Amino acid sequence: MPASEFGGSGTVTARTRLFVLLGDPVAHSYSPEIQNAAFRAMGLDGRYLALRCTEEDLPGLLRGVARAGGGGNVTLPHKGAALRAVDGATEAAVRSGAVNTFWLEGSRVSGDNTDVAGFRDALEALLEGPVAGCRALLLGAGGAARAAVVALLDAGGDRIEILNRTPERAEALRDAMGDDRVRVLEGGSAELAEGRWDVLVNATSLGLREGDPLPVDPEALTKVPAVLDMVYRPRGTALVRRATELGLAAEDGGEMLVRQGGASFLRWWGREAPLAVMRDALARAREGATGSGVEGGVS
Ligand code: NDP
Repeated sequence: MPASEFGGSGTVTARTRLFVLLGDPVAHSYSPEIQNAAFRAMGLDGRYLALRCTEEDLPGLLRGVARAGGGGNVTLPHKGAALRAVDGATEAAVRSGAVNTFWLEGSRVSGDNTDVAGFRDALEALLEGPVAGCRALLLGAGGAARAAVVALLDAGGDRIEILNRTPERAEALRDAMGDDRVRVLEGGSAELAEGRWDVLVNATSLGLREGDPLPVDPEALTKVPAVLDMVYRPRGTALVRRATELGLAAEDGGEMLVRQGGASFLRWWGREAPLAVMRDALARAREGATGSGVEGGVS
């Protein structure tokens, strides 16, 4: 089905394209607000909904929506299953072992992992320059960390040193990448040397819940000029607050969320996303969020 336009009247028609977020949980996601605002601003006849689903139901839902002319995103814990469900995937998706965006290309269901481009673009914005040559201290070794490693390697990062609670997982990530720019740290304080890194990246899930400890020895924050926290919460994260107090350049995962959403939008509609509109929609959604516990943190 071709992308049809309706001039923003808001009416759902027989030509309206459906986009879905598939995951479990999805209730705290900001993607519906961000994407629907972008569709509206661009006068595109599409609607974006969040659907909680099991891994068993994922392939049918993903393929059915795509083959009906729509598309969508996939979030935790189904990004690996989504890679297996598509007919073809981008190199970024294959290398990161995850699909977070799907759409129909000809008669084939295609997948990409726009977390990779989203992370790279957010990091470039934070560093106010290219990622090439960047030396990163990366906390975490799960799916988000893997997307960050792929992005850093592809953009010409100089060195990526991984620190993870479970060292074996960091070693497995290093080995999967097969690139000697990726190393594993032991976590001893002697390693927290000044001038060793251009940025500290938090790709653990610590910070998602109120009262979580910082994901790293606070001493590390005195050794880096910038912090990119992939976690986001309505009122920002403790890590970003601490880094900002110390005078570092720091961003939480909101900008990455917008950038990965922008890259998904481009896949679905074949045109550049209105990033400023998406940022505003995220800011409004964050202001409207209340309560405690897990708020945000899923794409
Ligand atoms: P995974 O479950 O795959 O990995 C979680 C990571 O966090 C692991 O490295 C794990 O360590 C570590 N971790 C969890 N709990 C603790 C703890 N108590 N102490 C120390 N380390 C801990 O999750 P993802 O990689 O998919 O996601 C991580 C975060 O990234 C999510 O919270 C999400 O908010 C964020 N994210 C943000 C995006 C954005 O657009 N801004 C996009 C994607 C993710 P171990 O290996 O030892 O278990």
